[in-house]
Amino acid sequence: MHWFRKGLRLHDNPALVACLEQSPKQVFPVYVLDGNCYQLLRCTPLRANFLVECLQDLDSNLRNLGSRLYVLEGDPTVVLPEKWKEWNISHMSYEEDETGEPYAVARDETIVAKAQAANIRLLSECSETLYPLQEYAAKAAKGKGGGGTVPATMTGFQKLFGSMPTMHKCLPSPTKEDFPAMKDDQDQKYLPPQKPTDLPWPRGIPKSQVDSLWGPQDCKNLTPIVHGGETLALKALKESLKDANWVATFDKPKTSCTSLRPSTTALSPYLSWGCLSPRQVWFALDEAIARASKAATKPPVSLHGQMLWRDFNHLMAYDANKESPGCWNKIEGNKYCRDVPWDDDPKLLEAWKTGQTGYPWIDAAMRQLAQEGWIHHLGRHAVACFLTRGDLWQSWEEGAKHFEAQLLDADYALNGFNWMWLSCSGFFYQYFRCYSPIAFQKKNDPSGKYIRKFVPELKKLPDKYIYEPWEAPTIILEKAGIKLGKDYPRPIVDDHSVISKENMSRMKEAYDAHKAREAQAATAPKKQRR
Ligand code: FAD
Repeated sequence: MHWFRKGLRLHDNPALVACLEQSPKQVFPVYVLDGNCYQLLRCTPLRANFLVECLQDLDSNLRNLGSRLYVLEGDPTVVLPEKWKEWNISHMSYEEDETGEPYAVARDETIVAKAQAANIRLLSECSETLYPLQEYAAKAAKGKGGGGTVPATMTGFQKLFGSMPTMHKCLPSPTKEDFPAMKDDQDQKYLPPQKPTDLPWPRGIPKSQVDSLWGPQDCKNLTPIVHGGETLALKALKESLKDANWVATFDKPKTSCTSLRPSTTALSPYLSWGCLSPRQVWFALDEAIARASKAATKPPVSLHGQMLWRDFNHLMAYDANKESPGCWNKIEGNKYCRDVPWDDDPKLLEAWKTGQTGYPWIDAAMRQLAQEGWIHHLGRHAVACFLTRGDLWQSWEEGAKHFEAQLLDADYALNGFNWMWLSCSGFFYQYFRCYSPIAFQKKNDPSGKYIRKFVPELKKLPDKYIYEPWEAPTIILEKAGIKLGKDYPRPIVDDHSVISKENMSRMKEAYDAHKAREAQAATAPKKQRR
């Protein structure tokens, strides 16, 4: 049996290859629809649909090899042992989940125990990152005369990456010959889901408490930025790297977050579900740069650099969870996160979530998230800063939960890291540098094309007022068919420049309190020792 969890692909899938190498008489490629897993616990119809497409594609690609996908449903720790018995399974392979996401950890511990009891041999391989996280950690530990720790800065990570051994080449997709003849395809049983509403609800959680409370009506006219599946992922990779000079000169801060087509690769949903192997991307970048006639940019701003950010984020989650299991997307117990006393105002949070803050650029980005399941990195910067330290002073944990539900590319490690960064809770501390919800994009998109697309009620406003409709004279608003407070909200905070300064003072207090706590903690053990 090969158990697909993430890693929804055939190419560069070492665990699948390990399974096939056992020369089994029969292989059961399995996916378990588990409403409680990280990807489905909070999930919009958009992302549910993405998973449906991934599973259909995987099934179709396996059928081309004379095999198929068996889609089960429920708690994997219950349904898999049942199938081991029923299907006479000897081995089970799977891609390891190294970051320490708590549901996956608990699930896998139970599976390992049950497999041992049932005499099932487990074969697990790491392929979610360029190198296994354990290998990064082991290499870092060898530093400083054996007392090294993993670096908590990108510069440090780049150094660590540079000291790693040569990266393994990608494994090719298995062929028909690699799969043993299928004896038992169980006909119409265990087929992939057809639509998002076929996916199960989380078990043991009342529907009233489930974030993703949606039905068939909400699944109509879905407009994701990309569709799911390995086939499309490989096509998108080829397409986005076609222009070798574009790849070579990629400079992330210079890409545009208001262009109506992504100015970056938009490969993130494929990477986070594992439809694409990170090594496949890495080597494709090498190949594109070799074709280019222009000089290549370097990490951290280059495309290779983006892949390094990804591994760095995973390593940080791995390291934090090693010390305090399950702490990564939380403030409490997370050694990388400063405890900032955020406010808790459900009304502000709701206005932010629904794109009703009265700041058109913020609302446009939040509505793009709802419509397409994706926002450009700098758009994510702007909305995350606005919710937290910039304007609304709400906890990053709440923002991260919303992103977890809405993003096609929701990723436990990347989401946690970036929310800590943007809220100045961890990894980035320059809280006096704050994104303006007005000026930040005005220079890139002066006519507000992006706002006009995602906030259509402002479509008829002249360019001059598109970022600040409250500045428009009544007659102009009337002409554009807008009554502020009725057709479009008044700004949720009166004056960004005032509130952001007040928030900087609050942040300074929080930093001072953090420093005092650290100083106290540093002296406490000494006293005990005496
Ligand atoms: P490209 O620029 O084309 O980069 C290629 C790949 O590199 C991406 O697909 C991604 O896998 C990786 N990458 C790029 N930027 C980053 C980064 N800053 N940190 C880590 N890896 C990166 N990304 C997710 O995949 N899932 C998330 O849940 C997620 N949450 C985020 C939350 C916030 C608040 C912020 C500010 C960023 C978040 N990101 C997340 C990181 C980043 O915004 C996206 O990975 C990127 O915008 C995806 O677009 P792309 O594929 O076109 O990226």
